Amino acid sequence: MDSERILTQLRVDGYDIVGSYQDADVVVVNTCGFIDSAVAESLDTIGEALKENGQVIVTGCLGVHPEVIREQHPNVLAITGPQQYESVVAAVHKHVPIPEINPHLDLIPRSVTETGIKLTPRHYAYLKISEGCNHKCSFCIIPSMRGKLKSRNIADVMQEAQRLAAAGVKELLVIAQDTSAYGVDTKYETGEWLGTEYKTKFEDLCVALGRLGIWARLHYVYPYPHVDKVIHLMAEGKILPYLDIPLQHGSPSVLKRMKRPAAAVNTLERIKKWREICPEITIRSTFIVGFPGETDEEFQELLDFLEEAQLDRVGCFQYSPIEGATSNALENHVPDDVKEARWHKFMQTQQVISTAKLKEKIGTTQKVLVDEILEDVIIARSEADAPEIDGLVKIDPNPDVKVGEFYDVLIDEADEYDLYGKIVT
Ligand code: SF4
Repeated sequence: MDSERILTQLRVDGYDIVGSYQDADVVVVNTCGFIDSAVAESLDTIGEALKENGQVIVTGCLGVHPEVIREQHPNVLAITGPQQYESVVAAVHKHVPIPEINPHLDLIPRSVTETGIKLTPRHYAYLKISEGCNHKCSFCIIPSMRGKLKSRNIADVMQEAQRLAAAGVKELLVIAQDTSAYGVDTKYETGEWLGTEYKTKFEDLCVALGRLGIWARLHYVYPYPHVDKVIHLMAEGKILPYLDIPLQHGSPSVLKRMKRPAAAVNTLERIKKWREICPEITIRSTFIVGFPGETDEEFQELLDFLEEAQLDRVGCFQYSPIEGATSNALENHVPDDVKEARWHKFMQTQQVISTAKLKEKIGTTQKVLVDEILEDVIIARSEADAPEIDGLVKIDPNPDVKVGEFYDVLIDEADEYDLYGKIVT
């Protein structure tokens, strides 16, 4: 996500993103320092970039250990850490001055094929509202790597959102480690945007985003009671009726061992309430199976939770230990074959639910945003589909359709993941 944000900002600043070392004035390497193999891979990548290009800026998690990088690669131009997105952009500015163009007028859409590397297409962008996290989930080392929650002022966030919208972005993906905690660290300080005073607060952010008139999609929200207010905004069509809530498990005892935020609230009740407020809401979540100590009964509780919650989109990971995570010290680690078997059972259970939910959409008309036009099919997404992680709407070819535009599509078919249809307007 940091890469997406850095790239988006650099493109807004007027830089071209190119697909080869030879064509680049400078190379930015975004590193990972979570596990030893990632450190070695990051150092190799820096070495390759230095050999092929010579002008290298390093950012990301490994940037918190500049000595490790400098020991092997003393010639890098700059090293910035994981929260220092502004610093990496500033380092690029220093070594390659901002092109003398008006970025809002001259921003040219560059597709994956044009650049040869994978970028966020110009019509959607990630909007990072805070860094770090105040929680202590036992399987996670983000707080120790990225520090405590640090929210950007709402005026700053909304100016960026407005700039992106002016540059042609049609969908903003709001991200943070815990989006619903936005502003707690600033004591909800105020900021002014378009002549209105807003608090640096989750609800105010959603109200302000609703004024942009483009899609705003919320990721990494926790099921706190104050989220209800935002669901009202979804029902009013101000922001997308879509919530990505990483629930991780459905058993209270496992959630307790995981030390999950909002584990005590009755999540099923919350979900029911959200659906009452906004019946068309899409709820996506991720889960972990095989967490240390997970018994057959606790796993069954998770399956029962899935059956009852009837979530629209679900991802599932098998637990794997990360160096430095406190969950490593828990007893009764689950054997790999049991994890694998539970993962399959989980996926089968959810697949039946997802397939039935998608089938209900046959015969409806869905607003879609077109991502890509291929020879024999148009790839789009509906309000229910976040890029990269959810399904697609596949549309019959139509010569009038353009990438990055909205259309209404009549759905005539569905499978386990995707919808199929024809453009009606
Ligand atoms: S909420 Fe938990 S899992 Fe998410 S970043 Fe914070 S500590 Fe990690």
